[in-house]
Amino acid sequence: MDVTVIAESSENGLHPVTAQLVGAAVAIGGAPTVLCAGGWGVEDAVSISGVAKVISVVGDCFGSFDGGAWAEALSSASGGDVIIAAATPAGREIAATIAAIRGIPIVQDVTGLAPGISVTRPIYSGKAIESSTVGTPCAITVRANAFDAAGEDGSAEVSTVNQSADVAVAVREAIAKASERLDVAEADIIISGGRGMGDPANFSHLEEIADIIGAAVGASRAAVDTWDEIPHGMQVGQTGKTVTPSLYIAVGISGAIQHLAGMRTSKYIVAINKDPDAPIFGVADYGIVATWEDALPALKAELGKL
Ligand SMILES: Cc1cc2nc3c(=O)[nH]c(=O)nc-3n(C[C@H](O)[C@H](O)[C@H](O)COP(=O)(O)OP(=O)(O)OC[C@H]3O[C@@H](n4cnc5c(N)ncnc54)[C@H](O)[C@@H]3O)c2cc1C
Repeated sequence: MDVTVIAESSENGLHPVTAQLVGAAVAIGGAPTVLCAGGWGVEDAVSISGVAKVISVVGDCFGSFDGGAWAEALSSASGGDVIIAAATPAGREIAATIAAIRGIPIVQDVTGLAPGISVTRPIYSGKAIESSTVGTPCAITVRANAFDAAGEDGSAEVSTVNQSADVAVAVREAIAKASERLDVAEADIIISGGRGMGDPANFSHLEEIADIIGAAVGASRAAVDTWDEIPHGMQVGQTGKTVTPSLYIAVGISGAIQHLAGMRTSKYIVAINKDPDAPIFGVADYGIVATWEDALPALKAELGKL
């Protein structure tokens, strides 16, 4: 199986999700070729276990992001029966454009893969899981944290391809992230607060725990809509970010269907809510019926001992 992975990389280097994409490639039996747009992240990509080859794709079009131009350049640089990219905004656009250029099918937002090629993915805002098989050639985007990351003992060969394409979209300004904290879309552990936190200042209790366990801090839409201090970038759910962390801790969140749509595929869900009938307990693996004022200090003290 000839698999091409499009690395998630930027001037800041290789994003860790790339090792998960390689894990996904290995799940369908491929030793992938990894394409690094703009040559970013090559040094780290070569050491990902299981990678057969790394191609550094350089060219004028990589000066700023234009999904169409990047897709054209990357598509010309390598073949592949299966193209795998991350289900990020950039990854989705590039993979979809490559699929259009090549006239092949694309399956977005995949959370499970097996040889064949069998794919599973959440549909209808996560209310159902679709299983299907897709023929080759095809393109697939993979949700962050859905696959285990490949190891770091690889030593792939590297080649460079100078391949540019016509740029149709010019980025005039890139606005920095509202927070320096880990983004919920990338985190393996998330602790989220809802309207039940009572006041935006109380999110500092979530941040303290996040700092202990290396988590990102998320929020429900009610929290984002109610308090200016809680930015939309933190929102998890149907109209926020879709996340699949190993652990999702929901604090003072009722568990409305639109919130569940963004986090119900988390591997483990812990809910802290004072209402025993809160719907969040319907999806939680572990539930604590208590106020956050009681539960968070105890949780923090125990985590601090680890
Ligand atoms: C089109 C559409 C899109 C939407 N998209 C999203 C989305 O992307 N994400 C999203 O989250 N919502 C979304 N919503 C909103 C959603 O329907 C809910 O209104 C929202 O999720 C509720 O947020 P919440 O659980 O924080 O607040 P509430 O529903 O007010 O729940 C607060 C919870 O906190 C508990 N609580 C109160 N005090 C405490 C305490 N001291 N300790 C512990 N628990 C306490 C309460 O028991 C309650 O369960 C959307 C709605 C629509 C119509």
